[in-house]
Amino acid sequence: MIETIYVEKAIKNHPRTKLILEKFKKSRIISINKYGEIFNKRNQNFRIQKTNPCLILAYKKDSFVLPAPKGFGIGSSNNFYFSHMYNCIYDCRYCFLQGMYSSANYVVFVNFEDFDNAIKKTIKNNNGSKITFFSGYDCDSLALENVTGFAKHILSFFKTYSQIEIEFRTKSIQKEPFLSMKPMQNVILAYSLMPELMSNSLDNKAPSISKRIRVISELASKGWKIGLRFDPLIFGQNWKELYRELLENIFKNITPNNLHSVSFGSLRFPKKMFKNIFKLYPKEPLFTSPFSLNNKMISYDIEIEEEMTSFCKNLSLKYINEDQIFKCSI
Ligand code: SF4
Repeated sequence: MIETIYVEKAIKNHPRTKLILEKFKKSRIISINKYGEIFNKRNQNFRIQKTNPCLILAYKKDSFVLPAPKGFGIGSSNNFYFSHMYNCIYDCRYCFLQGMYSSANYVVFVNFEDFDNAIKKTIKNNNGSKITFFSGYDCDSLALENVTGFAKHILSFFKTYSQIEIEFRTKSIQKEPFLSMKPMQNVILAYSLMPELMSNSLDNKAPSISKRIRVISELASKGWKIGLRFDPLIFGQNWKELYRELLENIFKNITPNNLHSVSFGSLRFPKKMFKNIFKLYPKEPLFTSPFSLNNKMISYDIEIEEEMTSFCKNLSLKYINEDQIFKCSI
């Protein structure tokens, strides 16, 4: 239940604002000028806000589509991302958003059509190259779908661009709008996964790994392309056994033809972000792992990273081809 919803004056009569507010009849509505007044306030406490976040409905003015960082991709030469939302309803202990934003409130931009225009322009400007767009870099792309309807909207846009890939990255078990549509070959439903034992203590409020695997299996059997994202890879006791069990369990539950790609990325944070997150959880065992500073990033020691990646990659090669495997190195 969201108790308070801030609405920018400029979009108070926007049809999408009305549609969203319809779903929260009991919430307190407060009118504001700009979302930044609430979202960017100084001296906010992320942890306290996370216990009862507010929703902010806003109008996005610019920067609808941005180039994805180098090292983030699944085979295309040109990669871009967009975020219709800032922040997430889940609370993963390692989430970089908590080190990036001082507020845990959710911002949802209602002017979806401006995203369409910016995507169209990006496609035109990159005519002839293989492009992938990533939805949900600053949020989980599907977790709040039943409130925002963004995925449903953007899927109908990508229907007319069948050569252009779009990836929805998620930990949610949201099956709509996918079950009620014919599968689209340019859409990748990409699930972040880690061994259940680790997920139980790190992926707070997110659906369990077994539930995620059931949904992956169902959507794959309907013909949707699936991406498996083992990112971050988490180091800990018995990690080899835990990852072996997880990978074998997933691969035996997916129709191989509908597996688009697998990617691995180890746990890493920009130095400043790590400091911010560490301040939030000084006692969290995850942050006392054997970290070191590599290329301005705090991450596991290089040997650990490499051992984990090659172990998981070798296991995956029993089920998929090498050209379907990617390493995320941002
Ligand atoms: S699902 Fe992703 S965006 Fe949401 S809290 Fe977890 S890591 Fe952050």
